[in-house]
Amino acid sequence: MKCMQCGGSMTARQETRRNYAGLEGVIVEGVQVRHCPACGEEEISYSNVEQLHATLALQLARKEAGLTPTEIRFLRTYLGLSGSDLARRMGVTKETVSRWERIDKPLAMGPMAERLLRLMAVREQPVTEYPLERLEHVATTEATPLRVRLKPKKQGWTVELPAR
Ligand SMILES: [Zn+2]
Repeated sequence: MKCMQCGGSMTARQETRRNYAGLEGVIVEGVQVRHCPACGEEEISYSNVEQLHATLALQLARKEAGLTPTEIRFLRTYLGLSGSDLARRMGVTKETVSRWERIDKPLAMGPMAERLLRLMAVREQPVTEYPLERLEHVATTEATPLRVRLKPKKQGWTVELPAR
Protein backbone atom coordinates (compact mmCIF):
# COMPACT_ATOMS: atom_id res chain seq x y z
CA MET A 1 0.00 0.00 0.00
CA LYS A 2 1.47 3.34 -1.13
CA CYS A 3 0.99 6.64 0.66
CA MET A 4 -1.46 8.95 -1.15
CA GLN A 5 0.50 11.99 0.01
CA CYS A 6 4.12 11.12 -0.79
CA GLY A 7 4.13 7.69 -2.45
CA GLY A 8 6.15 6.13 0.37
CA SER A 9 5.27 2.65 1.54
CA MET A 10 2.87 2.44 4.46
CA THR A 11 2.91 0.14 7.45
CA ALA A 12 -0.34 -1.41 8.70
CA ARG A 13 -1.42 -2.23 12.23
CA GLN A 14 -4.62 -3.00 14.11
CA GLU A 15 -5.77 -0.78 16.90
CA THR A 16 -8.49 -0.51 19.48
CA ARG A 17 -10.24 2.84 19.45
CA ARG A 18 -12.07 4.38 22.36
CA ASN A 19 -14.79 7.05 22.07
CA TYR A 20 -15.92 5.94 18.64
CA ALA A 21 -17.87 8.78 16.97
CA GLY A 22 -17.43 10.76 20.18
CA LEU A 23 -19.42 8.14 22.14
CA GLU A 24 -17.49 8.03 25.37
CA GLY A 25 -18.37 4.47 26.40
CA VAL A 26 -17.81 2.84 23.02
CA ILE A 27 -14.67 0.83 22.27
CA VAL A 28 -14.08 -0.56 18.78
CA GLU A 29 -11.49 -3.27 18.20
CA GLY A 30 -9.74 -4.34 15.02
CA VAL A 31 -9.43 -0.88 13.49
CA GLN A 32 -7.01 -0.89 10.54
CA VAL A 33 -4.48 1.92 10.75
CA ARG A 34 -2.02 2.54 7.92
CA HIS A 35 0.86 4.82 8.68
CA CYS A 36 3.45 6.45 6.41
CA PRO A 37 6.76 6.77 8.27
CA ALA A 38 8.04 9.19 5.61
CA CYS A 39 5.38 11.94 5.92
CA GLY A 40 3.34 10.90 8.95
CA GLU A 41 0.11 10.38 6.95
CA GLU A 42 -2.41 8.09 8.68
CA GLU A 43 -5.36 6.27 7.16
CA ILE A 44 -7.96 4.66 9.39
CA SER A 45 -10.47 2.12 8.16
CA TYR A 46 -13.22 0.17 9.85
CA SER A 47 -14.44 -3.08 8.38
CA ASN A 48 -18.10 -3.12 7.41
CA VAL A 49 -18.94 0.35 8.73
CA GLU A 50 -22.64 0.05 7.91
CA GLN A 51 -23.05 -3.01 10.08
CA LEU A 52 -20.92 -1.40 12.80
CA HIS A 53 -23.32 1.56 12.89
CA ALA A 54 -26.39 -0.69 12.80
CA THR A 55 -25.01 -2.74 15.72
CA LEU A 56 -24.28 0.38 17.72
CA ALA A 57 -27.68 1.90 16.97
CA LEU A 58 -29.39 -1.27 18.21
CA GLN A 59 -27.33 -1.27 21.40
CA LEU A 60 -28.29 2.36 22.00
CA ALA A 61 -31.96 1.61 21.37
CA ARG A 62 -31.84 -1.28 23.86
CA LYS A 63 -29.99 0.41 26.68
CA GLU A 64 -32.04 1.16 29.76
CA ALA A 65 -30.60 4.47 30.90
CA GLY A 66 -31.51 7.63 29.06
CA LEU A 67 -29.54 8.64 25.98
CA THR A 68 -26.71 11.13 26.30
CA PRO A 69 -26.58 14.14 23.92
CA THR A 70 -23.87 12.46 21.81
CA GLU A 71 -25.93 9.28 21.58
CA ILE A 72 -29.00 11.23 20.44
CA ARG A 73 -26.87 12.86 17.77
CA PHE A 74 -25.45 9.49 16.69
CA LEU A 75 -28.94 8.01 16.26
CA ARG A 76 -30.16 11.07 14.35
CA THR A 77 -27.28 10.90 11.88
CA TYR A 78 -27.58 7.09 11.68
CA LEU A 79 -31.15 7.71 10.50
CA GLY A 80 -29.84 10.18 7.93
CA LEU A 81 -31.80 13.05 9.45
CA SER A 82 -30.80 16.68 9.85
CA GLY A 83 -31.71 18.54 13.03
CA SER A 84 -34.74 20.07 11.33
CA ASP A 85 -35.83 16.71 9.85
CA LEU A 86 -35.88 15.20 13.32
CA ALA A 87 -37.63 18.29 14.72
CA ARG A 88 -40.42 17.92 12.13
CA ARG A 89 -40.88 14.22 12.86
CA MET A 90 -41.00 14.77 16.60
CA GLY A 91 -43.17 17.86 16.43
CA VAL A 92 -40.66 20.10 18.18
CA THR A 93 -38.60 23.07 17.05
CA LYS A 94 -35.11 22.58 15.69
CA GLU A 95 -33.80 24.64 18.61
CA THR A 96 -35.18 21.91 20.87
CA VAL A 97 -33.26 19.26 18.91
CA SER A 98 -30.04 21.21 19.21
CA ARG A 99 -30.61 21.62 22.94
CA TRP A 100 -31.06 17.82 23.28
CA GLU A 101 -27.72 17.37 21.57
CA ARG A 102 -25.87 20.09 23.40
CA ILE A 103 -23.09 18.51 25.48
CA ASP A 104 -22.99 21.39 27.92
CA LYS A 105 -26.23 21.62 29.94
CA PRO A 106 -28.45 19.65 27.54
CA LEU A 107 -32.22 19.73 27.65
CA ALA A 108 -33.58 16.35 28.81
CA MET A 109 -35.28 14.66 25.88
CA GLY A 110 -38.02 13.06 27.96
CA PRO A 111 -39.18 9.45 27.69
CA MET A 112 -41.76 9.95 24.91
CA ALA A 113 -39.43 11.63 22.43
CA GLU A 114 -36.65 9.24 23.40
CA ARG A 115 -38.73 6.14 22.83
CA LEU A 116 -39.84 7.49 19.47
CA LEU A 117 -36.22 8.09 18.43
CA ARG A 118 -35.29 4.56 19.56
CA LEU A 119 -38.23 3.13 17.59
CA MET A 120 -37.09 4.98 14.49
CA ALA A 121 -33.64 3.46 14.96
CA VAL A 122 -34.89 -0.10 15.46
CA ARG A 123 -37.19 0.15 12.46
CA GLU A 124 -33.97 -0.21 10.46
CA GLN A 125 -33.20 -3.49 12.26
CA PRO A 126 -34.54 -7.04 11.99
CA VAL A 127 -37.79 -7.04 13.98
CA THR A 128 -36.74 -9.95 16.20
CA GLU A 129 -33.98 -7.81 17.68
CA TYR A 130 -36.34 -5.47 19.47
CA PRO A 131 -39.57 -6.68 21.03
CA LEU A 132 -41.75 -3.60 21.57
CA GLU A 133 -42.50 -4.54 25.21
CA ARG A 134 -38.94 -3.52 25.79
CA LEU A 135 -39.82 0.11 25.28
CA GLU A 136 -41.50 0.43 28.66
CA HIS A 137 -38.20 -0.31 30.36
CA VAL A 138 -36.06 2.22 28.55
CA ALA A 139 -35.30 5.86 29.21
CA THR A 140 -36.58 5.57 32.77
CA THR A 141 -33.35 6.64 34.41
CA GLU A 142 -31.01 9.54 33.94
CA ALA A 143 -28.73 9.49 30.90
CA THR A 144 -25.51 7.55 31.21
CA PRO A 145 -23.31 6.54 28.26
CA LEU A 146 -23.70 3.12 26.68
CA ARG A 147 -20.65 1.00 27.53
CA VAL A 148 -19.84 -1.52 24.81
CA ARG A 149 -16.84 -3.08 23.16
CA LEU A 150 -17.31 -4.00 19.48
CA LYS A 151 -15.18 -6.69 17.85
CA PRO A 152 -15.03 -7.44 14.12
CA LYS A 153 -15.74 -11.14 13.51
CA LYS A 154 -16.28 -13.13 10.36
CA GLN A 155 -20.05 -13.10 10.86
CA GLY A 156 -20.06 -9.34 11.51
CA TRP A 157 -19.57 -7.03 14.49
CA THR A 158 -20.04 -8.64 17.87
CA VAL A 159 -20.78 -6.83 21.10
CA GLU A 160 -19.38 -7.21 24.56
CA LEU A 161 -21.14 -5.53 27.45
CA PRO A 162 -20.06 -3.67 29.37
CA ALA A 163 -16.80 -2.30 28.00
CA ARG A 164 -13.99 -1.73 30.48
ZN1 LIG B 1 3.64 9.63 3.05
